[in-house]
Amino acid sequence: MYNILDFNPEKLKQWMKENKESEFRAKQIFDWIYKNIWDFDQMTNIPKNTREKLKNSFYIEIPEVVHMYKSKLDDTFKFLYKYKDGNIIESVVMKYKHGNSICVSTQIGCRMGCKFCASTLEGIVRNLSSGEILAQVLKSQEQIGERISNIVLMGSGEPLDNYDNVMEFLNSVNAEYGLNIGQRHITLSTCGIVPKIIELADKNMQITLAISLHAPNDELRKTMMPVAYKYSIDEVIKACKYYISKTNRRITFEYALVNGVNDTRECGFQLIQLLKGILCHVNLIPVNEVKEREFKKSSSNNVKDFYEMLSSHGIETTIRREMGSDINAACGQLRRSYLESKNDLKGV
Ligand code: SAH
Repeated sequence: MYNILDFNPEKLKQWMKENKESEFRAKQIFDWIYKNIWDFDQMTNIPKNTREKLKNSFYIEIPEVVHMYKSKLDDTFKFLYKYKDGNIIESVVMKYKHGNSICVSTQIGCRMGCKFCASTLEGIVRNLSSGEILAQVLKSQEQIGERISNIVLMGSGEPLDNYDNVMEFLNSVNAEYGLNIGQRHITLSTCGIVPKIIELADKNMQITLAISLHAPNDELRKTMMPVAYKYSIDEVIKACKYYISKTNRRITFEYALVNGVNDTRECGFQLIQLLKGILCHVNLIPVNEVKEREFKKSSSNNVKDFYEMLSSHGIETTIRREMGSDINAACGQLRRSYLESKNDLKGV
C-alpha cells in the first residue's frame, strides 16, 4: 500500500496506465484531495470499480489533530499532529493580512544536535515522506478554513538531511494541479549542509535559502552547533555565494541572539566582515529559552545595539517578531512538552 500523497501526478498517471485506467483520472483524484476530500468513496466522478482498485493499492494519510493551540496575542495557531504510526510532529500557521504562512516539520526529531534547540534533544526518530510533509499543509488549510500561500521549512528537522523527500515535497507544492504555491513563497532553512546546498543551487530553483549561522566564527559556532565541526563557515559562505550566483536569490542568515554568547560587539564586527558584499539579509532572533537548555535570551538593548551595528554597516537586518510566544510556538517545544506530559518520550 502506498500513501497517495507520496505520488506526484506523473507517477499516478503511470500507475493508472499500468492498471488499465484512464490517465486523466490522476488529475481528478488530486483535485479532490486538494479540495479536502480524503476518502476515495467520496470522489464521485471516479467510477466505483476504479475506486475499489485505488483502495486496494493506496491510502490517503492525513494526520490527526492531537491539539490545536491558538495564541491569544496574535493570529498564530500551533497544531500537534499524529501520523498513523503514532509519531507526533508540530506545524505552526501564522495568519497575516497578505496571506497565511505555515512552518512545516521535515523530520520527526532531528540529529543535528544544536545546543539551543528543543527538536533535537532526543535525536531523530525518522524522516517524513514528501506526502507526510504535504499533509501538514492540507490539514492546516482545512483547519483554518483558508488557503495557505507561504511555506517555511523551519519546523522540526533538518530539510537537507531529508533531501530527496523534501525536493519531492517542493515539486508537489509547486505543481499547478496542487497547492500552486510559487517557489518565491517558499523558504528552506538549513544548519548548513554544504554539499546539499550546492546540489540545491544546481537545481536553479527560486526558493529562499535561509542559513542558520548563529555565530560569526567557527570556534564559537562549534559550541552551539555540532555541524560546525563538519563544515566551516568559510565553506558555508562559499556554498551560499554559489547559490546566489546560480539563482540570483538573496540569502537569509538567521542569527539567534544568546545573552553574552554571540551578541557582543566583537561578534557584531566579525559578522559584518563575514557578510560584507554578499546579497543577503540577516534575521536576528532573540533566542527562545528552552527549559532543558541553559541559553538565555539577549536583553532587548543588546538586540537593538546588534541590529544597529549591522544596519549602520549596510547589512540589511530585521529582528524577528516573536509570534505565538504564549503557545511555545518555537522549534520542537510543543512536541517535547506533549511527549513529556505523556511521561514517555519515545513510545507515543
Ligand atoms: N534544521 C533547520 C530548520 C529548523 S530550525 C535549520 O537549522 O535551519 C529553524 C530555525 O530556528 C533555525 O534557524 C534554528 O537554528 C532556530 N532555532 C532553533 N531553536 C531555537 C531557539 N531555541 N531559539 C531561537 N531559534 C531557534
